[in-house]
Amino acid sequence: MVKVPVYLDNHSTTPVDRRVLNAMLPYFNEKFGNAASRNHAFGWEAEAAVDQAREEIARLIHASAREIIFTSGATESNNLALKGAAEAYKDRGNHIVTCATEHRAVLDSCKALERRGFTVTYLPVDRVGRLDLDRLRGALTEKTILLSLMAANNEIGTIHPLKEIGRIAQERKVLFHSDAAQAVGKIPIDVEDAGIDLLSISAHKMYGPKGVGALYVRSKGRKVNLKPIIDGGGHERGLRSGTLNVPAIVGFGKACALARAEMAEEADRLIALRDRLKEGLLRRLDAVYVNGAAERLPGNMNLSFAYIEGESLMMALKDVALSTGSACTSASLEPSHVLRALGMEENLIHASIRFGIGRFNTEEEIDYTIGRVADEVMRLRKLSPLYEAARRESAKRAGNAERVS
Ligand SMILES: *Cc1c(COP(=O)(O)O)cnc(C)c1O
Repeated sequence: MVKVPVYLDNHSTTPVDRRVLNAMLPYFNEKFGNAASRNHAFGWEAEAAVDQAREEIARLIHASAREIIFTSGATESNNLALKGAAEAYKDRGNHIVTCATEHRAVLDSCKALERRGFTVTYLPVDRVGRLDLDRLRGALTEKTILLSLMAANNEIGTIHPLKEIGRIAQERKVLFHSDAAQAVGKIPIDVEDAGIDLLSISAHKMYGPKGVGALYVRSKGRKVNLKPIIDGGGHERGLRSGTLNVPAIVGFGKACALARAEMAEEADRLIALRDRLKEGLLRRLDAVYVNGAAERLPGNMNLSFAYIEGESLMMALKDVALSTGSACTSASLEPSHVLRALGMEENLIHASIRFGIGRFNTEEEIDYTIGRVADEVMRLRKLSPLYEAARRESAKRAGNAERVS
């Protein structure tokens, strides 16, 4: 029997891996030192643990340990990258380029910068969330200082071609920031190979604890300058003051080490589960549309079930934890700006469901979800006059109206 509720919302957050938890535990009490205490063994022990974690995080993205700045998560990393770079480079220009499907933490940081006199270009995407690289090239001007484009989208899973984007940024001598909160630990990310200057990571999206993340800040080759947004004791090379959350950082490091060792195998398993989910649902239901590109995160599937409200489906599915792009379920009350940017019909935005498959999901859980979602969609559609009308219409077009009515 499947244990309910089934958790299929791994893009929102992931459970802490047991191995990560075990690595963290000693650092709450036995090894409780402040990593900034330079005068005794308690401090040295904490500092050594932080150094090791920094090394693990750096290794996962092919950076050096000194290029890793610990933060409270990807929201803060995005704020520091955008606001910190904008302040540091404002004498060189006042223009930033980003994309309509970015996370709120990037878009709202851009909005804040617009209020401070910067100009921002929000690039559109095609119907599956892909960028037009010629359009990107055309958007860069003499005044552009920063390009911020996410590695993989948190709603539709679409992966951006970081290497091509990095090459364009390098040619045009523009800083390249990438919000990789969904990508790190799921797909290979190499900041050297992709020419990335700033990269945001979050531990709780990759089986680490909440409230910790990192910003990679390039110092090899072209060194990146940032103006801090938090002032204080000068921790993290002066870029992010505040006592380090040692247990969380240790967990973050362990999560990165596990990801490095297991990512390839895990991705294959998640792709198989995701395809099983999609095929199972498409087999049982008509009028289901896939949102997002074929080039997507292993654990991501985003589907619109025409003629139903994602909201109603989620209410009916108390035994499966999912998320919808329609209003009122997230912290914001707006329907998904990502699905909007794809140019989707309003009805299909409201009919969308995001499935986020993760490390601990099983085939049984996927089969259970297929059954439950299909049953509930069919039940809700029976109540929908629009669905009945459409079904009759398409049956008529197929020339077998009698058999249906
Ligand atoms: C979750 C997420 C964030 C925010 O990360 P936090 O660590 O929760 O602040 C930013 N960007 C993307 C793409 C995300 O998925």
